[in-house]
Amino acid sequence: MTLSRVLPIVVFALFLIPIATSSLLDLEKKRENEIIQQKIIAEQEAREKIYLMGKFEPTQNEHFVVVPTEYGVNDYPMYLRKETLDAFLKMAETAKKDGIELKIASATRNFDSQKIIWENKWNGVLLADGKNLFKNFPDELERFKKISEYSAVPGTSRHHWGTDIDINDSTPSYFKTEKGEKEYAWLVKNAPLFGFCQSYTLKGQDRPTGYYEEKWHWSYMPLSKNFTEEYSKLVKENEINGFLGDQYVVGQNLIDDYVLGINLDCI
Ligand SMILES: [Zn+2]
Repeated sequence: MTLSRVLPIVVFALFLIPIATSSLLDLEKKRENEIIQQKIIAEQEAREKIYLMGKFEPTQNEHFVVVPTEYGVNDYPMYLRKETLDAFLKMAETAKKDGIELKIASATRNFDSQKIIWENKWNGVLLADGKNLFKNFPDELERFKKISEYSAVPGTSRHHWGTDIDINDSTPSYFKTEKGEKEYAWLVKNAPLFGFCQSYTLKGQDRPTGYYEEKWHWSYMPLSKNFTEEYSKLVKENEINGFLGDQYVVGQNLIDDYVLGINLDCI
């Protein structure tokens, strides 16, 4: 082969080498960036999951504020997301003008405080609507289901999010009194104007699964709607554990039936 024939081939090859090298480098860089991106998303999701399952301390969280004592039923400090508290205070002011007093009976409960409630009901230390479930339900799976009528399994409560409150009381009997009925009627009519919806309405065709009716439990929708969506995307049933009776969680459809078993107006 003469030089005049070889030369164009050599020149062409020399021209191609840098292009091939740079596109290989580009590809590698792209892959690296993708891995970094995936890592960031995974870390963000892990943080969100910790939040959604209540595994944090509201007193240490910048988004949370303390409920003024005059708006609390109990004398211990309670915490809420700032937006939730602001909306509640506006609602309470308006209610006052109508002669209705609204106070918070329960606000944020993290995983640990929900665990105390759950385990105390499990052990019969805390009565559930006047009943000792430890004595009345020796079968553990039956007891699990009985507690779930009104109490959330730790890690699945909307009270973890700082968006949900129990107003004035948290027993069905209170809302059968004249005072309770009047307050509930006011809430049904007015709470949606302040962004609140009743998560656990009467069970029936529109809400076939989940907790029994809770006239006291109201959710601040502008925030909780998003948390509900995130919860259904991120949390898996086998991650809900760390309390007495947790061996009965898997297979019970807790996320679909309870976490998502809410009033459709709240979604
Ligand atoms: Zn509640």
